[in-house]
Parts: sequence; C-alpha cells; structure tokens
Amino acid sequence: MTDRSLTGGHMLIEHRVVLSLGSNLGDRLENLQDAIDALFDAPGLTFLAISPVYETAPWGGVEQDDFLNVVVVAETLLTPETLLERSLSIEESMRRERVVRWGPRTLDIDIVQFGGIVSDDPRLTLPHPRAHERAFVLVPWAGVEPDAVLTGHGPVADLAAAAAGDQEVTRRDDLTLQPPA
Ligand code: ADP
Ligand code: MG
Repeated sequence: MTDRSLTGGHMLIEHRVVLSLGSNLGDRLENLQDAIDALFDAPGLTFLAISPVYETAPWGGVEQDDFLNVVVVAETLLTPETLLERSLSIEESMRRERVVRWGPRTLDIDIVQFGGIVSDDPRLTLPHPRAHERAFVLVPWAGVEPDAVLTGHGPVADLAAAAAGDQEVTRRDDLTLQPPA
C-alpha cells in the first residue's frame, strides 16, 4: 500500500472509488444519510453519484432484520488506507456493533473498488473480496454505472444479473437519500 509519509495521505492522481453502505439497526435510512454526509464532510472526496436505496435480506445466516443498502461513487486524491480509516471512524462513531460476525450493524461501509488497485492485505482487500457475489452491491452499482467493470471479475451488469437470481434485492423508491451538501 502507498507510503503515506511521502504523500501525506494523498495520491498524485484521482481515483474513482465505489463504496457500499448498509444498515439494519435503528433508523436505517438516517444512518445511511449521516454516513454519506460524514464521508464527504472532510476534504479529499468528490461526490459523483448515488444509487437508489435497496432493501436486502441479511447475509451469513444470522437471524436479524433486513438491510438498507446503497452504493456511492466518488473521485478521490486520498490513499486507499486514508479512505478506509475515514470509513472505519464513521462506523465507530455510529457505534456499530461488532459482536457477531455478519450480525446486525448500525452501519457498514465497504470500499468495493478503488480505481484499478488490487490488494490482498486483509485490512484492506481490493476490490472487496465478496463484492462480486453480493447482489446488494452489484445491483445498485450496475444501476448507477451501467458500464462499470469489477476489477478481476468482469462487467458489473453481468455479475448483478447472476447474483440477483438467488438473492432478493428490492428497490425502495419510497426511500430517498440526499447527495452530500
Ligand atoms: P464485510 O465487509 O464482509 O461486511 P466487516 O465489515 O465485518 O465485513 O469487515 C470489517 C473489516 O474488513 C475492517 O476491519 C477492514 O479492515 C476489513 N476490510 C478489508 N477489505 C475491506 C474493504 N475493501 N472495505 C472495507 N473494509 C475492508
Ligand atoms: Mg465491511
């Protein structure tokens, strides 16, 4: 990963990043809105697009409420590590419960893709190691970026169609999120 001592947490060129946000505890829509506002409140991240809100059954076999999920596309000069730290601190500040793996959470922020960067670092794996099989990431993403390609896996629209076959994702047009101010 990039040596931040040389760049102060910044890259020399902008990267297009795709983020997946999910919440299934408390006021789920408000949690997503607060997270989006917080992500773009600090400098270094430029908003490009937001998907509609989707409701999805939980992943991983733990009994819990349905998630609301959204995908956000942005451009950034931040390093992947700096964006991860920002995401984790927003999750922390919203008191996300980490008691059960894949259990309920106030907020989950995943970095789905960061330009074409590939990393197998467990702290920040890029692209996200499970994005290619998750309908709640792929379906919203294909909606906002129909021609997107998931590095190492192919066209997002094709992956979305395959994943949507066995995972229920429901578009909630009655729920709207505002782009960051
Ligand atoms: P999941 O992302 O599969 O829902 P968790 O959110 O519980 O699982 O995983 C959290 C941990 O995953 C974080 O501590 C973070 O360091 C690590 N991680 C690895 N790659 C990524 C990524 N691309 N985006 C976000 N977190 C990641
Ligand atoms: Mg996560």
